[in-house]
Amino acid sequence: MWYALMQKSLCYLNLAGKGVVIMTADILEERKKSIISSDFCCHGDGKGISCEKVSVSGSVSQRACVYCGARVVLNPITDAFHIIHGPIGCSSYTWDIRGSLTSGSDLFRNSFSTDLKERDIIFGGTKILETAIDEVVAKHDAKLIFVYATCIVGVIGDDIEAVCRAAEAKYNILVIPVKAPGFSGTKSQGYKLACDAIMKVIMPAFDGSKIPGSINILGDYNLSGEMWIMQGYFQRLGIKVNATITGDASLETLQTASKSVLNIVQCAGSSTYLAKRMEQEWGIPYIKVSFFGIEDTSNSLLRVAAALGDEAVMKKAETMTKIESSKLQDFLTKYKPKLAGKKAAIYVGGGFKAISLIRQFNELGIETVVVGTQTGQKEEYDIIRELSSPGTIIMDDANPSELETFMKEKKADILVGGVKERPLAYKLGVAFCDHNHERKHALSGYDGVKNFVEEINLSINSPVWELLA
Ligand code: SF4
Repeated sequence: MWYALMQKSLCYLNLAGKGVVIMTADILEERKKSIISSDFCCHGDGKGISCEKVSVSGSVSQRACVYCGARVVLNPITDAFHIIHGPIGCSSYTWDIRGSLTSGSDLFRNSFSTDLKERDIIFGGTKILETAIDEVVAKHDAKLIFVYATCIVGVIGDDIEAVCRAAEAKYNILVIPVKAPGFSGTKSQGYKLACDAIMKVIMPAFDGSKIPGSINILGDYNLSGEMWIMQGYFQRLGIKVNATITGDASLETLQTASKSVLNIVQCAGSSTYLAKRMEQEWGIPYIKVSFFGIEDTSNSLLRVAAALGDEAVMKKAETMTKIESSKLQDFLTKYKPKLAGKKAAIYVGGGFKAISLIRQFNELGIETVVVGTQTGQKEEYDIIRELSSPGTIIMDDANPSELETFMKEKKADILVGGVKERPLAYKLGVAFCDHNHERKHALSGYDGVKNFVEEINLSINSPVWELLA
C-alpha cells in the first residue's frame, strides 16, 4: 500500500533572507511536524520535531508493534521461554528475531505459540495457554517463562495474569505475563512492559547486599557477540560486569542485578525506563553510554570509570582509550580516501544510535544527509540537529515513502538501517549497512569500528552500482 503514498512531485520555496531552501513534499498533513530540516523546520510549527507520539494511522510506519518491542528486549535471556498467546503469525514474526549470541542455552531462540484459531477466539483461549505452560515445564524444565498477550487476546480479554499466577503457584517458578497487544500503543510501550517484566525477575532475589565497583550493562543484546567485546574492555579496566541485560543473560545472572553500584545504558530507547526503576527501587545511579565509533567508545569508557570514582580505574581507562584510538588511525587513514565526500542516510530504532552514527560518519568524512529514528526523544533530536550539517533532513517514525523521497532528494550513497529498510535501499540502487538485529558482524567498540568501516566501504564501493548507470 505504501507505494500509493509515493510523492509525485516536490515543490521548492526559497525563503527570503534565510538562505534556506524549504521542500514541501506531498506527504501526509499529520506527518509534517515530524519531518524537519537541521537548519530550519521545513514542516510543522518551527518549534522542533514532533516525536514520542503514536504513529499516524494509514502512514504505514516502519515501527514494530508493542508486542514486538517487548519481545526483542526479553528474547536474549538465554534460559527464558517465550509463549506467545495468539495466532501463529505473531510468534513467527518475532521468531529468533535478534542475532543474540549465547554462552549458555540456546532454547530462547525458539518461539512457543498457543496458535489460536477462530474457535478459540470465540470460546476463549485460557485452557490452551494453561496446556502450553504445562508442556513447556514438562519438556524443558523451565524456570522462567514469559507469556505475551497479542492483539487478538487483548480483544477477547483472556485473563493471562490469572493463568500465570496459577502456573507460578503450581510449579514454583516465574511465569510472567506481558500484556502487549500490538495495537495498544507504540513500540516504546513494549519496551516499558519488558522492563517491568525484568523487574519482576530481579525483585524476588533482592537482599540489600552490594558488590563494590560492579556494574550492570543495560540495553545491549549481544548481537554478534558485542556484549562480550564490552565485557573484555571492562575486564581490562578491572571493572566487574555483574548482570548483562539482556544480552547473554540468564535467570541467575539477572537476579544479581540489584547488587551492582552503577547501571550503564547502551540502548537508551529500550532500557532507560528500567534504569530509572532500578534507581527508584535500589538507589542504583545510571549513565547513558554508546559504544559505537571511536569517539563515543572512548568517552563512554572514561565516563564509566569516572562514575565509579576509582582513581586507578580512571588512569587505566585514559591509557587504554588512547592506545586503542591510536591503533585505529592507520586503518582509518587507509579507508578515508575511499569514503570521503559520500552521503549517508540513517534510519534506526533509537536516537542515541543515530547520534553515534553521525559522529562515526563525520570521522570518515561522510556527510549525513537524512537521519531518522523509530523511537527517538526530543533531547536526542536536539543533539542530532546540532551535529548535522545544514539541510539534513531529520525524521521521526518515518514511512518508506518518506525515506525514499528524501534519500533520492539528498542523493544518499548508503542507507544504514534494519531488515525492513534493506529492500528499500536495494530497490533504489543505494548501498546498505544493517545496523539492527540481523547484523552479522559486531559493530560495537574499537573492534566494531573496523567491521563497520569495512562493511560501509564494501557496500558503497561495490562494482554492482556501476551496472545501474
Ligand atoms: S501483536 Fe498484533 S500487531 Fe503485533 S504481530 Fe501480533 S497481530 Fe501483529
